[in-house]
Amino acid sequence: MRAWQRLSGASLPLVARVIVVGAGVIGLTCALRLLENGHRVDVVARDLPLETTSAVAGALWYPYRALPQDRVTVWAGASYVEFMSLAGDPETGVTMRTGSEVFRARQADPWWKAAVPGLDRETALPPGYVDGWTFVTPIVEMPVYLRWLGARVTGLGGTITRLNLQALPAGADLVVNASGLGARLLSSDKSVAPVRGQLVYVEQFGQDRWILDPEGPTFVLPRAQDVVVGSTADEGEWSRTSSPEVTGEILRRATLLVPELAKARVIRTKVGLRPVRPAVRLERVDRVVHCYGHGGAGITLSWGCADEVVGLCAD
Ligand SMILES: Cc1cc2nc3c(=O)[nH]c(=O)nc-3n(C[C@H](O)[C@H](O)[C@H](O)COP(=O)(O)OP(=O)(O)OC[C@H]3O[C@@H](n4cnc5c(N)ncnc54)[C@H](O)[C@@H]3O)c2cc1C
Repeated sequence: MRAWQRLSGASLPLVARVIVVGAGVIGLTCALRLLENGHRVDVVARDLPLETTSAVAGALWYPYRALPQDRVTVWAGASYVEFMSLAGDPETGVTMRTGSEVFRARQADPWWKAAVPGLDRETALPPGYVDGWTFVTPIVEMPVYLRWLGARVTGLGGTITRLNLQALPAGADLVVNASGLGARLLSSDKSVAPVRGQLVYVEQFGQDRWILDPEGPTFVLPRAQDVVVGSTADEGEWSRTSSPEVTGEILRRATLLVPELAKARVIRTKVGLRPVRPAVRLERVDRVVHCYGHGGAGITLSWGCADEVVGLCAD
């Protein structure tokens, strides 16, 4: 039986004690939205925020390797609006930047077009490219952002505790399962699998626009102090060790998009494992709300998914 508790006064919301499993962008965003809606929230996680896959991400708002298209478009659109408002606060690490996605073949409009306020055909294309579009989109400096999210969670009375679970916890009214790849164990769900991505960080060399070729994928993402250059998409690969050969290959591809990269100084490399699933799992089963499998778009979908999680918790 659920131990729902009603606060005094008929107009106040129902309050539940919720355990959120996972301290990546999905777990923290769900925790924050639940707290904002009056719930009591404890986050437990094997890896603390800055140790997660989320901390590795570039992170561009862009729906990559996440399905189904209709739900992803709605979640991405809601997140875009939230990030746009956060970009006004430098403490969040969110900036809105103009850039382009470019292609070596002609393209129809993207399926997620409705999620962005404006999208124009790109006419200034790198050599060898024949099509593209340009739009303004959020870029999120994840270490800064995750610190900000964590502080918001604890500031509203939530807790974040390191705990390596062998099973989803008991003892709460509700559990939000935001364990990313960990759902392979915690939900016995082998359909969520790693797609490994390597990133190269170079010193900022005056780049203010982002550029992306989905082949590779190959991208150059400017941040305040550095530029994130990517990447790879190695299906089923678990190794988190960077390869110098792959670093060279990423820089070679990216320099075709931004020739100035040839002179940029490499600061470090990082590897992360995207939690890819045939479709994002966002559903309630009894007292567990599952929210995992966001692939290459966890940041892009985070706020939209968190809003839906809050709705499911209230059902
Ligand atoms: C190279 C790279 C580039 C990317 N670029 C972008 C981008 O530009 N834009 C974008 O939107 N997305 C991007 N992504 C994807 C994004 O990083 C992921 O979709 C997102 O981080 C998933 O977040 P999550 O919170 O579900 O998972 P995670 O960040 O992996 O967090 C999972 C949490 O669950 C916890 N957990 C797991 N198992 C257990 C257990 N047994 N017990 C306790 N805790 C457990 C973990 O410790 C962790 O705290 C990129 C990913 C990579 C690798």
